[in-house]
Amino acid sequence: MPTLLLTHPACLLHDTGPGHPERPDRLRVVDKALADPRFAGLTRAEAPLANTAIIELVHSAAYIDAIRKAEPPTPDSPRVMLDSDTPMSHGSFEAAMRACGAAIEAVDQVMTGKAHNAFCATRPPGHHAETNSVQGFCFFSNAAIAAKHARARHGAERVAVVDFDVHHGNGTQEIFWNERNLFYASTHQMPLFPGSGALRETGAFDNVCNAPMRAGDGGHEFRDAFNSRILPALRNFGFDLLIISAGFDAHRDDPLGGLTLAADDFAWMTHKLVDMAVAKAHGRVVSVLEGGYDLGGLANSAAAHVSVLMEAAS
Ligand SMILES: [Zn+2]
Repeated sequence: MPTLLLTHPACLLHDTGPGHPERPDRLRVVDKALADPRFAGLTRAEAPLANTAIIELVHSAAYIDAIRKAEPPTPDSPRVMLDSDTPMSHGSFEAAMRACGAAIEAVDQVMTGKAHNAFCATRPPGHHAETNSVQGFCFFSNAAIAAKHARARHGAERVAVVDFDVHHGNGTQEIFWNERNLFYASTHQMPLFPGSGALRETGAFDNVCNAPMRAGDGGHEFRDAFNSRILPALRNFGFDLLIISAGFDAHRDDPLGGLTLAADDFAWMTHKLVDMAVAKAHGRVVSVLEGGYDLGGLANSAAAHVSVLMEAAS
């Protein structure tokens, strides 16, 4: 069974404006990297629009509507700010609906055995969006929605999200906090935006595992955090589907983070997660792009990540 790659040109239309790090070129460089012949074995599909009833597993209809209505009406209309660092342009709503739709479609294909695993090369990212708030470049909590959809539609009993973005996924954590069958684990730099993700934040059911890292930490410290905290907690939780919040801004060249990972480190983490998914969940992995703001670091790291997903699927 193949690895599925979901993306959509509409994700380029979310125009955050000059100087904003979460920019369309991020997706262009990932697309270009994955156009290399060594990725010829990917099954490629366009990301569909998310079904709003599925988004409502996490966000209210009023929340979705408020975002839809905030969208500037024409390509010439000025951008609006949904929070202090989340601009919305004409086209942003479709991009957000396709980013969320990709995660949902990936769950459908992986849970029904049509794909072994999947990567969603989409933007805007999702892990900072909370139940009731747009935050940190994120509109809809794509990974959390996908996790809840796997439970609601596909009978997955337990779903785990592992997030190796340099920022803590406060949104995913908030949405999962009181859900005994949903697990969230994160490595992230602290202190750093959004400020959450301390060790003591463990969820209502011990279903949250945070491994904060210090500025300057690199591959050695990450491997240690994975081996000593993330992987044992994940093994202990057990799961029917693993979702990866794949942010590549812990890369050493990233302008927003102070960690020092290289593409090889992302490959190592992916290997460990894929191996755990094979042991626990028939290999079912859905990976969604979160951050990553150095174009070279993002492209190389995403390529390394997808290579490991493909090896697992072959
Ligand atoms: Zn990030």
